[in-house]
Amino acid sequence: MTTSPDLQHIVDAIRTRQRFVISSHSRPDGDSIGSQLAAAYALRALGKEVTVINADPAPPPLLQFPGVPDIMIGDRADGDFDAAIIMECGDLARTGVAGLERFFVINIDHHPGNTAYGQLNWFDAGAAACAELVFDLVRALKLPLTRDIATHIYLAILTDTGSFHFSSISPRTFDICRQLLEAGVDPVQVARDVYDSNNMGRLKLFGAVLSAMQIDPTGRIAIVYLDNEMARKAGGTYDDTEGIINLPLTVKEIQAVVFFKKTEDNQYRVSMRSKGDIDIGSIAKEFGGGGHKNAAGCTVTGPINALQKTFIEKIEEAIDGRPAHRR
Ligand code: AMP
Ligand code: MN
Repeated sequence: MTTSPDLQHIVDAIRTRQRFVISSHSRPDGDSIGSQLAAAYALRALGKEVTVINADPAPPPLLQFPGVPDIMIGDRADGDFDAAIIMECGDLARTGVAGLERFFVINIDHHPGNTAYGQLNWFDAGAAACAELVFDLVRALKLPLTRDIATHIYLAILTDTGSFHFSSISPRTFDICRQLLEAGVDPVQVARDVYDSNNMGRLKLFGAVLSAMQIDPTGRIAIVYLDNEMARKAGGTYDDTEGIINLPLTVKEIQAVVFFKKTEDNQYRVSMRSKGDIDIGSIAKEFGGGGHKNAAGCTVTGPINALQKTFIEKIEEAIDGRPAHRR
């Protein structure tokens, strides 16, 4: 493997430091958790002291994975650390954890538009998951790929590619996965733990949200909506919504999905997903959010009807703007 200069600097910085804090974005997903814990296990194998902290807890199914229940939840990184490793964050504020800027910041990410906020920045938008970079880091540190490390990297890749659906997948993705399986990952068990360990409230909530789903006049965009009242009636919570957004995409004609989750009066957390070449990442960016071509999000304020109209128009433009041969 050829080591990039950025990676080599990170390896050197890790070797010469002892106490690390590892953080990722608020409302962490599989790639946040997998990247953080794979790195934490690797650094501990080198004899380093590692604290993992996030602003919000992991989604419930991920609590079954090694080390996840031990992640600290807090909005401040207290204590003394020699370096902060930030995974999966385009800017430092995405962590929702204050005080990280006091340390030597190592920024490892794959989100387009990363602001290079660290003392060291290693950024690769071509990686299907941030954990692909962590894989290279583990190799560059010349550490054995333990089953726990491999499982976390696999968890991250599986979830961040939408179960191998998104266009970010490359030959490297499968080459890494091959090595992860050789290191002892059980892909059937990981898929079961991630996708088949929900509670009944979540299934009912899916039913309620899908019953209320709307389709745009061209039949290509699904619009889903959830507020607290709907969640309460269905017997689920906002924590149960992970993955709902991917379901409308299973319909052949549906090219993109936009999900509005009400957070406060007139304030909505927007998640978007798309197929193939439809770039909804730049739409999220226009509204102060971010993400990738096929998976992105932002938070918006305004009357819901006007917001839905705006997003449908933008997504229709993104669908029609693709090169004709890719449609
Ligand atoms: P989500 O819809 O929340 O699952 O997010 C999909 C993707 O977009 C993930 O890679 C997120 O990290 C990214 N993303 C979501 N919201 C934001 C935001 N406000 N700012 C930057 N990136 C975001
Ligand atoms: Mn990611």
